[in-house]
This record gives sequence, structure tokens and C-alpha cells, in this order.
Amino acid sequence: MRPFEYVRADDAAAGAAAALQAPGSRFLAGGTNLLDLMKEDVERPPRVIDIRRLPLGQIERTRAGLSLGALATNTETANHPMVREHYPLLSQAIVAGASGQLRNMATNGGNLLQRTRCNYFYDTAMPCNKRQPGSGCAAREGLNRIHAVLGWSEACVATYPGDMANALYALDASVRVRAASGAERLMPIGELHRLPGNAPDRDTTLAPGDLILGVELPVAAAAFARNSHYLKVRDRASYAFAMVAVAAALDMDGNRIRQARVVLGSVAHMPWRSAAAEAALVGQPAGPEAFRRAGEAALAEARPLAHNAYKVELGRRAVERALMRASRLA
Ligand SMILES: Cc1cc2nc3c(=O)[nH]c(=O)nc-3n(C[C@H](O)[C@H](O)[C@H](O)COP(=O)(O)OP(=O)(O)OC[C@H]3O[C@@H](n4cnc5c(N)ncnc54)[C@H](O)[C@@H]3O)c2cc1C
Ligand code: SF4
Repeated sequence: MRPFEYVRADDAAAGAAAALQAPGSRFLAGGTNLLDLMKEDVERPPRVIDIRRLPLGQIERTRAGLSLGALATNTETANHPMVREHYPLLSQAIVAGASGQLRNMATNGGNLLQRTRCNYFYDTAMPCNKRQPGSGCAAREGLNRIHAVLGWSEACVATYPGDMANALYALDASVRVRAASGAERLMPIGELHRLPGNAPDRDTTLAPGDLILGVELPVAAAAFARNSHYLKVRDRASYAFAMVAVAAALDMDGNRIRQARVVLGSVAHMPWRSAAAEAALVGQPAGPEAFRRAGEAALAEARPLAHNAYKVELGRRAVERALMRASRLA
């Protein structure tokens, strides 16, 4: 690991100032992703700013819904009674990720900002536009079994690997961000991550010094509590990233679908919400026919690479299966 400066932030303003003074600095939360990347020489921050003393560990009811602090751990969040009762999709997605020990360390803010698991990104001997802009993309013509089938560019075919963000997107969550200037903003979670385009080194729309303060879940999303399901398809039953994941949420009026959310994970550079799948569901009676059409719609624009065509059919079936479970038909 390269030498770096360690700074402990006592408040958000000091943390942001420390980040701006040393371009390329990183905030340290649970460290379960950042420290691995530093040990592999993939991340080389000159300064690491420990934010763990900031008062961002709360999970509390607000008038708008439920507020999840950026430093609340994944375990605390998944087990919280309000999350389990009103937003069970989120609990399911978190518990589907990593392992118990990792979830005890991992924080909500860090989870959202975890980086891709592309093997070439981790291998500093290989070209990678995300790690080193302009060097090329080894995965484009390489072993790209785990890579994207939607929204990729010639510059990068990596996927966003996280689970929690997929569920949060389906639940219409927003992310509270504090800019280095001190200004706070609330952005829909669908605007946090981005497609690679010509700048795959940027995973998100955040600016240097932006600090995630927390995540807000709206009251209205509790309408999905009864009919939601997180389906994660992976090579091993636990401790593995998804090949394809689906966060499915339905708001039902009897057997008729009033509102639907379908978000796919590990198929694109960001959580992939499918407006086409949702449109195929709204107003329809819940059942295999509508769910099959939703699966087809979700993958209709897929462009598989040499080694990941399986994700297209897997994605269709995963959408169908997740919706069957969400509607309690399976
Ligand atoms: C073996 C293994 C298996 C895993 N399996 C899964 C899985 O199946 N599903 C899944 O979703 N995840 C999985 N993970 C990833 C794990 O969930 C993440 O490592 C973890 O959530 C990151 O949280 P952290 O608090 O440790 O982040 P850190 O490592 O501390 O930080 C990650 C990034 O976020 C930035 N950051 C952290 N907090 C903030 C903040 N408040 N504001 C701005 N920037 C911030 C850091 O600067 C850094 O760039 C796995 C990890 C490992 C090691
Ligand atoms: S897919 Fe993206 S992360 Fe992977 S090698 Fe290509 S540029 Fe790098």
C-alpha cells in the first residue's frame, strides 16, 4: 500500500475542507471497499479522511418517511423494525449482500459508493479506462461474463455491483448530500450513479468534497411493503455478487397492479430502472402473462458482449420470478 495521510474529521465542514485541500482524497467509512482497493493499488488517495465520528448513524422516522444516516451500518439498517415493517425490500436486498461480518462494518453511504468488481479494474497490469482514463478497456474484448448488457459504452462495460441501491431506487429514495460549500441537496437516488459514456472514471454525479449525509425513504413507498421482492441470482448461494438482481415492488388494488417498480442490478453501470417493464405492468392483473411481458420489456434494449449473452434470458426470467414472488403467486 502506498503512503497516505490520515485525517480524522470532527465535523462535516472540516471533512469537506480536508478533501478539497488534497485532490483525490477519499472519505473513510467502514473501509471494506476503500481499504481493499488501496491495498490492491487501485485507489491511491493522498489523504484518507475518517468520517466515522460524524453524527450520521441515526435511523429515525421523519414527517416525510424514514431517514437512514450515512454511517448507520448495513446490519443496523436491515434489522431496524421500521425498515423491516415498511420497507422489507430494502432489508432483503441488504441481507442478500456480502456476509454478516462485512455488513456489520459496511455503512449505508459507503455501500452506495462501492466500486465495480470488474476483474481488470482490480488488475493494475491491465488497461482500464475507469482506473486510468485513456488506457483502454480490457474487458470489452476480454473475459466479460460478469459485465453489462445495458447502457455500456466502448469506454467501459463494467457494472455497478451493489444490492442496496437497487432496492432504494425501487422505493423512490433520495440521497442527502452536503457539498463542500456547505449547501445541502436532496437528489433522487436514480441521479446518483451514472452511465459510463466517455468518462467511466466517474461512477457517480458527486463532486469532490461532496459528503453523503443519509438516505430518505418516502412514506408513500410503504405502499409496496406487502408486495415486494428482491431476487439475487449468483454463482454461489452466499458471499457472492449478483450476476443479475431484481428489485420488484408492486402496489396492488385487489389483483390489479396500481403501481410497479422494476430495478435490475448488475446489468449496467448503474442500477437499471425499467420504465418499459413498469408500463407493461400498470393496470394489468397480476399473473405470469403480465410478468413475462415485463421481463421481455426490461431486456428489450440489451446488447450482450461475447461472454454474457446468458444475462439477457436470465434477466427476463429473474424479472418474471421476482414479480411472481412480489405478488405472492410463487
Ligand atoms: C468479499 C466481499 C463481498 C461483498 N459482497 C457484496 C454484495 O454481495 N453486495 C453488495 O452490495 N456489496 C457487497 N460487498 C461490498 C460491501 O457492501 C461494501 O464494501 C460496503 O458496503 C462499503 O461500505 P463501507 O462503509 O465499508 O465503505 P468504504 O469502503 O469506507 O467506502 C467506500 C467508498 O465510499 C466513499 N464514502 C463512504 N462513505 C461516504 C460518505 N458518507 N460520503 C461520501 N463518500 C463516502 C469512500 O470514500 C469510498 O470511496 C462486498 C464486499 C466484500 C469485501
Ligand atoms: S469494463 Fe470498465 S472497469 Fe472494466 S476494464 Fe473496462 S474500463 Fe475498466
